[in-house]
Amino acid sequence: MSKFISEPEEEFSFNCPSCKDGHLKIIKNLYDLPDKDKMLIIKFECDNCNYHQNDIIPYTTRIEPGKLTLKITNEEDLKSKVYRSPTGKLEIPELELSVEPGPSAKFYYTNIQGILFRFENAIEIHLNNEELSKDEKLEVVKILNNLKEAINGNYPFTLIIEDHSGGSYIIPTDDSKLSYTKLNISDNV
Ligand SMILES: [Zn+2]
Repeated sequence: MSKFISEPEEEFSFNCPSCKDGHLKIIKNLYDLPDKDKMLIIKFECDNCNYHQNDIIPYTTRIEPGKLTLKITNEEDLKSKVYRSPTGKLEIPELELSVEPGPSAKFYYTNIQGILFRFENAIEIHLNNEELSKDEKLEVVKILNNLKEAINGNYPFTLIIEDHSGGSYIIPTDDSKLSYTKLNISDNV
């Protein structure tokens, strides 16, 4: 039998995809399994309608501070799951995109494709900014076009999450594409 090893923890919220009015509560439960492994269950619950969803995540080694690097080269890789903790910095160097550490629920827990869709949305909003010069706009359009190719699995890129407190992790569809570098305390500046 599995058992709770910590009290259910609740943090952040975002709008319900079903009723749009309610807020989703995100509840994390960490379970201890008999084989010493751990498992995280993330539960999404709407406070307004019946919408709810569970996600189960194996919770093994990636809790230490470190840098996770995932190579994405095909459509299958886009299904890899990503959990960015509020202390994690997320980056796609080839597309000049990044999410700074902070409680941005939009990039909290999703798959790679979900992250790309959110960037696409943000860039399209940015493109409507009247203050952009013509050159700046061209640069943004170029990134947007590459991003659209990436969403379809036609643009290879790298996703990096650097987390000085630990807690962020990636569950790859292909283990060989994920690498992990432990961060030294001296890097923690
Ligand atoms: Zn709802």
